[in-house]
Amino acid sequence: MTPDLMHAWQVSRPGPLAESPLNPSQLPVPIPGPGEVLVRVSACGVCRTDLHVVMGDLPTHRSPVTPGHEVVGRVVLNGTGASRFQPGERIGIPWLRYTCGACRFCNTGRENLCLEPRFTGWDDDGGYAEYATVPELFAYRIPEQFNDVTAAPLLCAGIIGFRALERASLPAGGQLGLYGFGASAHLAAQIAMHRGATVHVLTRSASARHLALELGCASAGDAADAPPERLDSAILFAPVGELVPVALQAIDRGGTLAIAGIHLSDVPSLNYQSHLFQERQIRSVTANTRSDGERFLAEAAAADIQVHTTPYPPTAADRALADLWDDRVDGAAVLDWS
Ligand SMILES: [Zn+2]
Ligand SMILES: [Zn+2]
Repeated sequence: MTPDLMHAWQVSRPGPLAESPLNPSQLPVPIPGPGEVLVRVSACGVCRTDLHVVMGDLPTHRSPVTPGHEVVGRVVLNGTGASRFQPGERIGIPWLRYTCGACRFCNTGRENLCLEPRFTGWDDDGGYAEYATVPELFAYRIPEQFNDVTAAPLLCAGIIGFRALERASLPAGGQLGLYGFGASAHLAAQIAMHRGATVHVLTRSASARHLALELGCASAGDAADAPPERLDSAILFAPVGELVPVALQAIDRGGTLAIAGIHLSDVPSLNYQSHLFQERQIRSVTANTRSDGERFLAEAAAADIQVHTTPYPPTAADRALADLWDDRVDGAAVLDWS
C-alpha cells in the first residue's frame, strides 16, 4: 500500500547554506499524471546542480521544490496511458524529464537544446523524497550490475560526463585532461580509458588525486599545474572560470576544451595568441539527449565502471550538500532511501 504522506526535503527560499535553505517536510505522495509513473525512491544522488538550485545560483523555477535528479527507484503505479514499465521494475529518473518534441532543436536530434525543457528537481519535484514521478518516456532502465546506490550517480554525473567527453572530441588514443575530479569526472575518466585514452587529472583535492591514480589515470596534479604532456582535449568539471585559460594553455593545436557545468564563475579575459589561436576551441555542454543517456548506460555496463560513492542517510541531505560545497565528498554523494 502506498501511504498518503511521505518524507521529503524542500527548498522554499534559496540562499547560502548557513541560512538552511533546504528543509525536511511531510508532503502528499504525488499522483502520477498521464504518461507518468510513480516511483518508490531507493537512492538519490546529490549533484552540484542541486547546490545551485538550493543556493540560488540558478533561478527559481518552482517554489517550493524538492531537489534531486539522480533517482533510482521501483515503479509502484502507472499513470493513465503509461505502460512502458511494470510495477516493481527498477528505473532511473534523470535531470532531463520533458522536451517539447516540436521545436527546431527537438526536430533535429538536439533535444538537449529544447526551448521548453523541464528538469527534475528544478521544474518538478525530484528524489530528495520517498516517492517521485517521471514521464515514462524520459526514464531509464538500469544495468543490473549496478546496485541502487552506485546506479544513482550515473543518471546525471555519468550522463553529463559522457556528453562532455563527446563534446571534447577526443581523438582515438588521445591525451585527455580533466580539471576537477568529482562524481562526473571519475566516471568520464573510466569511459575514456576504456576507449583507450590516456587521462591526466588536475584538481586541488588530494583525495581526488589519489582516487584518480587508483582508477588508472596516468597522472594527477594540482588544478593549476601543467599536465606532463600536451592535451588533445580537456574537460572542465570544476565550476571555476579561472581554469579556462589554464586548460586552454595546456591543450595542443587543434584541441578542444569542453565545459561540463551548468554554472561557471566568470571567465577571465583570454589572450588570443596564448589561449585560442591555432584552432583551439571552447565548447559548452548543455544537458543531454535521451540517446546520450542510453548510450552512456550501455557503455558504463560494458566498461564495468566503478562508481565511488559516499552514502548518506536520507535524514542528512542538508549535511550531504554542505559536504559537497566544502569539497569533502569523494566520488559521489548519494542519499540512501532504501
Ligand atoms: Zn523542443
Ligand atoms: Zn546533476
